[in-house]
Amino acid sequence: MTCDVSSSELRPPPLPIRVRCYHGEGLMSYARRAAEANHVGIDDVESAIRSQGYPLPLRRDAEERLQIWRALGELHSTTLAEQDKDGELQIPTRPLCAKCAAGQAANGRLPTIGDVCLRHRRWLGYGDQADISRVPEFLAAERTFRRVLVPKGIVVGSVVVMNCRGIGQCLPKDVAQSRIRQLQLSESNTEMLGYPETVALAAMLTDTAFLDRVLSPAPPDERREHLDEAIHAAMHPLELVESWRITNVLWSTLKRDYEHLTSTRLRGVAPEPAVALLLPFWTSRPRWEDGRRISGPQGA
Ligand SMILES: [Zn+2]
Repeated sequence: MTCDVSSSELRPPPLPIRVRCYHGEGLMSYARRAAEANHVGIDDVESAIRSQGYPLPLRRDAEERLQIWRALGELHSTTLAEQDKDGELQIPTRPLCAKCAAGQAANGRLPTIGDVCLRHRRWLGYGDQADISRVPEFLAAERTFRRVLVPKGIVVGSVVVMNCRGIGQCLPKDVAQSRIRQLQLSESNTEMLGYPETVALAAMLTDTAFLDRVLSPAPPDERREHLDEAIHAAMHPLELVESWRITNVLWSTLKRDYEHLTSTRLRGVAPEPAVALLLPFWTSRPRWEDGRRISGPQGA
């Protein structure tokens, strides 16, 4: 029998066996687990739904599809919300904390946290979900990530964080080995080992007082000196091995931003955040384009 599908309010009845949806879990992860619990596949469930006349778009992130799976699982309307939306592509889908998900293999997108589950003190980034409770720097870094970076719209996949990821390769040997031991890692995971320093550098790069010093008009030597001092302060007391690598990566970002800002300042036009990546974080930036009206088309 086919039901009346004229109303988008119509929802299918719930599956016989319901499963819990974990915080941050995505649609495909939930649908797979819900179908498995009922001893069928996702396709079996969705074919049956379509054959009953319910509107079920093929697009994974279609709102109607989310609503149907919420109805099948008797879920709250706020669940399964972190799907691929425009502008959120930097939020990766990743395994949820195995303890938060009660041992279930569940995936999702968690835009408001970094690479650590503070509740269970577990690593959530690349590699195994190691226990990080014996390394307090990781807990402190995660708190900084949430307190300082998240309010600025920064997520684990943001360019500014990615630019700082290589720091793990620059840790002094004794620090790296000590962390490997404390974390009981079977092999080195540089992305993980350098997380505390990655967060510190990302916080430094997006600090408006720091940007005041390195992006305001000044000779290159002076700005480069400010960068060296800031890196040293952020990494205190570590003396990084081959720290020139990190300095060069950060300097090239700052140099590109500086050149764009200089060019737009001379032309009296607004800089573009798509070009100057750190621009959104320089909240104390002098608005030289304000109050100046360029006649004719931009750049004329
Ligand atoms: Zn957890």
